[in-house]
Amino acid sequence: MVNTCYIPKTLEEALVLRKEKKAVPLAGGTDLMVAYKRGVGITPIFPFPVMIVTHLDELKGIRVEEDGTVVIGALTTSVEIARDERVPYFVRMAASKMGAVSLRNTATIGGNIGNSSPKGDLPQPLILLDATVVLQSIDKKREMTVDEFIIKAKKNRLNDDEIITEIRIPKPDYTYGYFRKIGTRKANAISKLTLSAIMKVESGVIKDFRASSGAAGPKVARSREVEKLLIGKLVFDLPSLVEDFVDAWDGVISPHAMPEFRRATTKNMLRYFLLECAKLPKSGIIE
Ligand SMILES: Cc1cc2nc3c(=O)[nH]c(=O)nc-3n(C[C@H](O)[C@H](O)[C@H](O)COP(=O)(O)OP(=O)(O)OC[C@H]3O[C@@H](n4cnc5c(N)ncnc54)[C@H](O)[C@@H]3O)c2cc1C
Repeated sequence: MVNTCYIPKTLEEALVLRKEKKAVPLAGGTDLMVAYKRGVGITPIFPFPVMIVTHLDELKGIRVEEDGTVVIGALTTSVEIARDERVPYFVRMAASKMGAVSLRNTATIGGNIGNSSPKGDLPQPLILLDATVVLQSIDKKREMTVDEFIIKAKKNRLNDDEIITEIRIPKPDYTYGYFRKIGTRKANAISKLTLSAIMKVESGVIKDFRASSGAAGPKVARSREVEKLLIGKLVFDLPSLVEDFVDAWDGVISPHAMPEFRRATTKNMLRYFLLECAKLPKSGIIE
C-alpha cells in the first residue's frame, strides 16, 4: 500500500482536494501519525489520501473582533494560544498544559477538536465558553458550537468535504473563574480529569454559572439544566446548596474508567470552587 499525500498551496486548493479526493487534513500530525504508526523510524501508512495543511497561512493566527470575540485559526498551535493574553484564561491554561513543549509547538487547536478525544484538553474550556467552530467546504460555510460539533469519543459532525477553519470564542463575562487539570504528573500527561467553572455575581445574586468536566465521559460534560439550579440564588446561600448541587452534577458525568476517583474528585473540585465563591473574594480566578 502506498500513501497518497497532497500538499495544497492555498485553502481553496485544499477545499478542492477535500471535495474531489476526500483527502484527510494532516495539521500537526500528533494524533494522525500516532493513530497509524507502524514502529520507530517507519513511515505510517494511511488507508486514505492525506493532505498536509500545516503551512496554510489562511488558517493561522489569533484576532479579536469588535465585540470581544476571540477568533483562533484552526492551525494555531498550543504554544501560540498559551502565550496570547487575548485568549480567555481557561483556554490558555488548557493549551499550556498539553503534553510537553515539543508537542505544544506542533499540536493545533483544529487537530484537537478534529480528533474529538474525550481526553483532548481544549474542547473542555471551549464548551464552557460556548465557543463555536467554523467548517468550510468549497460550496458553503457552517458554524456550530463545539458542544454540538463533538458527538462522542472520536466522532464529530465534520463532513468529508469540510475543513475546520477557525474557532470563535465569545468574550467571557464572569466574576469568579476556576480551571484544573489533573494528570499523573505536571508535564506531558494526558488529562485524567479537568474542570472549568465560571460564576457571575451581581449584588450578591448568581446571574450566571457554568461548569464543564473533561475526561469524565465520552465527551465533555456540561448541563445547562443542572447549572440553572444555582442561577438566581444568593451567593451567601452556597454553603447550604452545595451538596445538592454537586450530587446533581455527579449525574452529568459518565466516567467508564476509574469512576469512583473521577466522581469524587470532580465533586471535590466543584465544591471547593463554590465554597470559595461564597467567601466573596476579590473577583478573578480562584486558585
Ligand atoms: C505524546 C503525546 C502527548 C499528548 N498529550 C496531549 C495532551 O496533554 N492533551 C491533549 O489534548 N492532547 C494531547 N495529545 C494529542 C494531540 O497532540 C492533540 O490532540 C493535538 O491538538 C492534535 O493536533 P494536530 O494538529 O497534531 O492534529 P492532527 O494529528 O494533524 O489531526 C488530528 C485529527 O484532526 C483532523 N484535523 C486536523 N486539522 C483539521 C482541520 N483544520 N480541519 C479538519 N480536520 C482537521 C485530522 O484529519 C485528524 O483526524 C498528545 C499526543 C501525543 C502524541
